[in-house]
Amino acid sequence: MRKPLIAGNWKLNGNQALCQDFVDNIKPVAGIDILICPPLVLLGDFEGARFQLGAQDVSIYDSGAYTGEVSAGLLLEKGVSACIVGHSERRCLFAENDGMLAEKIKQLFLKGITPVLCVGEDLQTRDSENAEAFVSSQLEMLSVFSAEQIESMVVAYEPIWAIGTGKTATYEQAQEMHHSVRAKLASYCDAQKVKILYGGSVKPENAEQLLAMPDIDGALVGGASLDVSSFNAIIKAAS
Ligand code: PEP
Repeated sequence: MRKPLIAGNWKLNGNQALCQDFVDNIKPVAGIDILICPPLVLLGDFEGARFQLGAQDVSIYDSGAYTGEVSAGLLLEKGVSACIVGHSERRCLFAENDGMLAEKIKQLFLKGITPVLCVGEDLQTRDSENAEAFVSSQLEMLSVFSAEQIESMVVAYEPIWAIGTGKTATYEQAQEMHHSVRAKLASYCDAQKVKILYGGSVKPENAEQLLAMPDIDGALVGGASLDVSSFNAIIKAAS
């Protein structure tokens, strides 16, 4: 039985007041994990939070002359339990490739932080009916990890055309892709153990039906994770 996870990716948004709003007003629901991934400098502003804290990225290095980087060890010291890796914005805007992402995942495993690996196709790939093959190829870098390691990870399927656009994959499209991701993972591990989140314009209005799909184990939420009542509604939809 996979425990649902509702994760919020604040990206470069939020401030100390929003942290306090979340500390005061998030309503935990039994049997559901909640994760908030704020900008790193806000990690210290969640005292008393009844949810887990995550990061949006990690360095491939553990220390040294790497200006601007933050290591997995430092994330751990700040109470981070999970870290997004390979978000499409980092792949597209910061040229992150599979080799770098594998290094980041290695760093996280060394510190016991759960990697949340993002995969997903762009509109052109979907329109040319290559979405499943493309996402499957993005998962191939997992072959360097053990079955046990992969089973402990989270994968987030996030079609790029649905991120921040207000367009959501239909429930059927999302389920089809999640099923295909799980089938690919089965070549590396017991895929029934891996949590697969859906991301792409998840909001209170569509969360319940998406989360009811058999291979959708939770959501990675961008825009709607910046509003505590919307985020609470998505958490409730997972119950
Ligand atoms: C995201 O950035 O991971 C995301 C899914 O954003 P949004 O929910 O705003 O589409």
